Amino acid sequence: MKTEIVPQKKGFAKAVELINSGELVAFSTETVYGLGADFSNSKAVAKIFEAKGRPQDNPLIVHLAKAEDAELVAIDIPLEYYALAKKFMPGPLTIVLKKRSNVPDVVTAGGSTVAVRVPKNKTVRNLIALSHPLAAPSANRSKHISPTTAEHVALDLDGSVSLILDGGECKVGIESTVLDLTSKNPTILRPGAVTADMLLTVLSSVSEKHSTKIKVAKSPGMKYEHYSPICETVMGMTINSSRDAYDKAQSEGKKPVYVCLHNAKIKFGHRDTVVLGKTIKDYARNFYGALRYAETIYDYIIIEALDESGLGNSVMNRATKSAGGKFV
Ligand code: AMP
Ligand code: MG
Repeated sequence: MKTEIVPQKKGFAKAVELINSGELVAFSTETVYGLGADFSNSKAVAKIFEAKGRPQDNPLIVHLAKAEDAELVAIDIPLEYYALAKKFMPGPLTIVLKKRSNVPDVVTAGGSTVAVRVPKNKTVRNLIALSHPLAAPSANRSKHISPTTAEHVALDLDGSVSLILDGGECKVGIESTVLDLTSKNPTILRPGAVTADMLLTVLSSVSEKHSTKIKVAKSPGMKYEHYSPICETVMGMTINSSRDAYDKAQSEGKKPVYVCLHNAKIKFGHRDTVVLGKTIKDYARNFYGALRYAETIYDYIIIEALDESGLGNSVMNRATKSAGGKFV
């Protein structure tokens, strides 16, 4: 199969045709690129798992054209869903609901819940409206770094998907917040750009359950290694420890690099760095692209650790997983 990158408006009609005939299409969202199939077609959805090499027990998010369409795939939808939708949809918030019986097991990994989200990209919402809700995970090979450009998708999935709709660089850069509304208290299963404090403007309580140490995970994807560069990667907890690790790696003949914000770069001397920008938002937006760049040139990546509050908590969740929990 030949893989083509096409500007999203130009490739739109072809994308509708592919989805309606049970094929895959990759598309951009504000979080990361997704690899979508008609959620109601088990055979089409199975192709996603095959293309990515994704474990069968890791469920997919169903992408909707509008928030009310959750009724197509979920039952007993609580009022909180609609209140959250009003404020955060379309946007980087995924909500876990009780699944409707028409949702194939392959989408939910056999579970009784379904995760839904409404992406910001208008072209993608039109594609969904003209075809079907799309079951879609991130458009990378399983375990590798999530894609934030059409080129990243092509590098991972060349030959496994025929059409990549190019919608430019992803603006948020990390995956959506996953919020479970089926448990007793609303619970964040995966932190993202919609933070606990933001959710608390609508909900009276929010619990967080996204420790990287969880073994039997409620959000099945949490137990897998994620977002990993192909070379050794560690978290640098302070500038001094990062500098020491860099110099030690270099003295051992390795080619190290420090992935960090502008302020830390200034303190890092003449050593090699990949700069993520100046703010935490820049960090999130550029993080995966920086790791993909770094892994092609270097063989030892040190990632700058940030304070874990607000969006910092969400980016550190991804960074820690990229480093497989290792730190210096
Ligand atoms: P990805 O789209 O590759 O970021 O993966 C989707 C994420 O959503 C994974 O971490 C899944 O475990 C999570 N997810 C999808 N469906 C559900 C569900 N029904 N309940 C809990 N988590 C889910
Ligand atoms: Mg993923």
